[in-house]
Amino acid sequence: MTTVHPRTSGRRSPLAEEHLPLPEVRGALAASLEGPLTVRPAVDDTGLAWLADAAEARKSAGLHREPHVRQSADGLINLASNDYLGLSTHPDVVAGAQAALAEWGAGSTASRLVVGTTQLHVDFENQIADFLGFDAALAFSSGYLANVGAICALAGRGDLIVSDTGTHASLIDGCRLSRARVVVVDRGDHEAVRDALANRDEQRALVVTDSVYSIDGEPAPVAELYDAARAHGAVLLVDEAHAFGVRGPGGRGLVAEAGLSGAPDLVVTAVMSKSLGAQGGVVLGTHAVREHLIDCARTFIFDTGLNPAAVGAASAALALLSANPDLPITLGDNARRLAQRCGAAEPAAAVISIIIGDPKQAVAAAAACRDRGVLIGCFRPPSVPEGTSRLRITVRADLDHATVDHVADVVDAALREVGVR
Ligand code: PMP
Repeated sequence: MTTVHPRTSGRRSPLAEEHLPLPEVRGALAASLEGPLTVRPAVDDTGLAWLADAAEARKSAGLHREPHVRQSADGLINLASNDYLGLSTHPDVVAGAQAALAEWGAGSTASRLVVGTTQLHVDFENQIADFLGFDAALAFSSGYLANVGAICALAGRGDLIVSDTGTHASLIDGCRLSRARVVVVDRGDHEAVRDALANRDEQRALVVTDSVYSIDGEPAPVAELYDAARAHGAVLLVDEAHAFGVRGPGGRGLVAEAGLSGAPDLVVTAVMSKSLGAQGGVVLGTHAVREHLIDCARTFIFDTGLNPAAVGAASAALALLSANPDLPITLGDNARRLAQRCGAAEPAAAVISIIIGDPKQAVAAAAACRDRGVLIGCFRPPSVPEGTSRLRITVRADLDHATVDHVADVVDAALREVGVR
C-alpha cells in the first residue's frame, strides 16, 4: 500500500539553491544554444504533409474548429459554459483560489505520491465525500483523468466492461485503455446491460455510465443499472459531471436521488469544473476504493497533483452549494423556462439541445447568437453523431427571468436567420 503523507505549507526547501547549475555549466549551456540555425525541410516534404489534406477535408465537411478568442468582460451572456451555478466568478470562490495560491503556491509541484499531498487536498476530499455521502474521495487534476484513472484501475485484461452509446469521451477512453473486453449497449437499455453481465465468462465486471448525458442532458436509468450490476456481482461507475450541483437533493446528483449514495458496490466520479466553477475531478467510493486508486490509478500516480488554487476554489464553491440548496432549484426553473420559450423539450437537467443537422448551419446559428450578444455551444461530429449537429445551451442559476427570455428571443432570431425556423 502507498500512503500519501500530508504536507503542510510554509518554508521553502533549503536545497533549492544547491540544485541550480554551476556557473561554468550555465556558460556551456548558453554556448550550445548559439550554434547555426538548423535548416528545416518544407512542410510538404515531411511525414506530416497529409495534415493539409485532412484539414481541407474537415473544412469542406463543416467540421473545422477555431475557438474564438475570448476577452474578459466581453459583455456576452454565456450559455456555452458548464458554469451551471455561476460560481466561477463568485467572490468567495475567487477568494478561495487566492487564499490557496498564497498559502501553497502556483502549482502542486509533483505527483502527490512523490511530494506528499497538501492538507488542502485532503480536507477538500473529506468535504466532498461528506457532501455526496461516500466514505472517501480522491481528487484528480481533471474529470477526464478521474474517469480514465478509475476505469483502468477497476478493470483490466480478463475483465468485462459494459458501456453505452451515450457515454462521455473520457469514459470511452478509459474503457479502451483498460484492455478489458468492452460491450457497448444502446443508451438507457438496462436489460441489455443485464444480458451482457449474465452471459459473460469473465469473473469481474464493471458497468459505466453518465448519470446525465453530456450532449443532451437526458438522465440515465441509474437505479436500474445499479440493480442489474448488483444482481450479477458487478460494480457500477456513474459519472455525475452534469448532475452534481444540478439534480438530486441539494444538488447531490442522480445517485443521491436514487437513494444510492455510499452503496459499497458503486463508484461515482464528479467534476469540480462544472457546477463548482473550478477545475479538477474526483472519484468517490469506499476507503478500499480510494486506497486502490492511490496505488493503481496511473492518472493519479503519474500526474502532478490538482492545482492548489483549483482546490481552494472548489472548496469555497462546495461550501456555497451546501449553504444554498435552492441554487439547483433555481437552475432547474431557468432551464424549464428557457426550453419552453425556445420550443425545446422539457429538460431533465440544465442542458438544452436544439438539433439542426447540418454542421455548417449549426455553426452559422451559433455565430448569429454571438452577434446578438449570446454565447451558445455548437456541437458537431465527432462530439455528436453524423447528421445531428446542434446548438447546445447550458443554462445557469444566476440568470434572471428577463435574461432567460432575452436569450430565448435571440436563439429564435438566430434560427430564423439561418433558415431552420
Ligand atoms: N465527464 C463528462 C460527462 C463531461 O462532460 C466532462 C467534460 N466535458 C468530463 C467528464 C471531463 O471533465 P473535465 O472537463 O473536468 O476534464
